Parts: sequence; C-alpha cells; structure tokens
Amino acid sequence: MRRVSCARVLPLALLLVTLAAVPADAGAGGAGAGAGVGAGAGVGAVGTVDAVRGEAARAVRAHETARARVDRLRAADALPTKIKSAERRRKKIRADLWDMLWAAGRASGDPVAVNKSGRGGKCAFQSRNKKKSKNKSKAKTSPKAKASKAPKAPKALKAPKAKQDKAAAEKKARDTARSWTAPTRDYWLSAGYAASGARWAHRHTGQDFAVSTGTPVYAVGPGTVRATTCGDGFGNQVVVRHPDGYFTQYAHLSRIDVRAGKRVKAGQRLGLSGATGNVTGPHLHFEVRITPYLGSSVPPLPWLRRKDVRVVR
Ligand SMILES: [Zn+2]
Repeated sequence: MRRVSCARVLPLALLLVTLAAVPADAGAGGAGAGAGVGAGAGVGAVGTVDAVRGEAARAVRAHETARARVDRLRAADALPTKIKSAERRRKKIRADLWDMLWAAGRASGDPVAVNKSGRGGKCAFQSRNKKKSKNKSKAKTSPKAKASKAPKAPKALKAPKAKQDKAAAEKKARDTARSWTAPTRDYWLSAGYAASGARWAHRHTGQDFAVSTGTPVYAVGPGTVRATTCGDGFGNQVVVRHPDGYFTQYAHLSRIDVRAGKRVKAGQRLGLSGATGNVTGPHLHFEVRITPYLGSSVPPLPWLRRKDVRVVR
C-alpha cells in the first residue's frame, strides 16, 4: 500500500519491488482479513500489502464521492436526517480505512503510526524544542491553557509582543472561516499529485513545492499537530489534523517548530523546508489525507481550491 513519493523507505522499496512481480489481483481476496483492526495482523505479508494498497485507493475514492455527496446535500439545504446519514456513511468509510492503514503503517514501520512524536526523542529538531516541551507539560496541568491567552505568553520567550499579536490574529482567524493559505511562499510547483516517474515506487502521493532550504512552511489551515516525526523517507515531517477531518502533511523539513498536540492556526509556521529523507533536492512535499497515514491522500490542489486557496505555478 505504501505509495511512496519523493520519500522511499528502503525496506518498503524492496517489498514493492517484490510486489511488482505479483499479478495485480493476487491477494486481493485477503483484503478484508488483512485489513482488520489487529495490530499488524498479517499486513506484513507481501500479498497483503498489495491488497491493502488497492483497497486503500478504492476507499479513498469512495470517501471522496461520499464527501462530495454530503457537500451537495448541504448546499441544497437537504433534510438534516439525509445529511446525517450521508455523513455517517462517509465517516464509516474513513474509519475502516483508518484502521486498515494504521495496522499497515505499524507493520511497515511508518513513524506516524508507530510513534507520532518522533523516534524515541532522537529527532534532531527535538533538542531545539526543549523549552517548548517544558511549557507544554506545564500547559497540560492547566486545562484552561488553550482557552486563555495568558499561559501562551511564557512560551514566547523571544517575542512576547509578536505572540500576542499572533494570538489576536488566531482569534480573528477562527472567527473568519476563510483563513486557509498555501503551505509555503516563493515556490514553483514541481512534481504534482499522482505523477509517475523513476523517483517513485508508485504514483506521487502529494504535491511538491520547490523551495530552497530554510523557507518557512505554514499550516494551510487551523488545526492540531497530529505528529512530528523523523527518520523515514519523508525526513522531518509534520502532520496536522484540521477541523473538517482532513490531515495535511509537510515533509523533508530542515527544522520543526511544533510538537504533537499543539494547536495551530492558518499560516502559522510549522518549521523550515529542507531536504531531509529521501529526496533529490530541497523541496516541500505536501499531502492532504483523510487519515494521518500514508495511503489515504487526495488531490491536494483541488482540496486547497475548495478552501479558496489558489496555488499558482
Ligand atoms: Zn513529493
């Protein structure tokens, strides 16, 4: 299932090479069994990985169809019961896919599924964030932390005023729904979604933004940091969960400025672009997913356009 992009983890590449020799339908019958919730139950088997990949792609398409239907019903002011039932169907598709990809991700060692806060504290960026981590544990003891602005001030050791401005802007952003933005600036679009090429074992799972190392990378919308990891083909990466249930992924970063669990607003800096992981040069790899895991990505530019974000070439 691992359709790796500019990032390709070696063991997976080997698995996929093996898969290439397997007929497309081989093992598809086992999809249901292999897709179970059990931790990695049988997903490591070569045939099952192939089945998971195909199954995930079908589930993503079904989810997007279901989501479009919900949108249409909402736009048409359909009966609330009708909208609810369509929404239930969409969430069921996503929940099943989530379970499947979580198990597959654990089996393949995807750090987002294995350890969403990095690899045992060994990520280079973590030492930079020690102060933040202390503040975070402090914040945990006071549940009101996120509601009031006061606990935020100590975090802004370098620029408290800027932070206050940020907090005000955050509130404003929450008030105005149209707060989405492009994930970086001064880019040109390189490899697009579903592009195929020698660099990828399968189709490209995201959109690449060519930027030089050190370019700020922003959360495209408000959300919560789901994972910050390092060490696989994606290098240093951040995964953000948005209120609409979608996730965005920012990969190959040279630096990460946020931690798992942190709330972010649209346009907030997550880190700096780079060339970590398996890349041929510095760029931002950006994905939109319906789960936190690889294998559930949707076309990112149309998704951004639905949020009124125009990404230009
Ligand atoms: Zn990419």
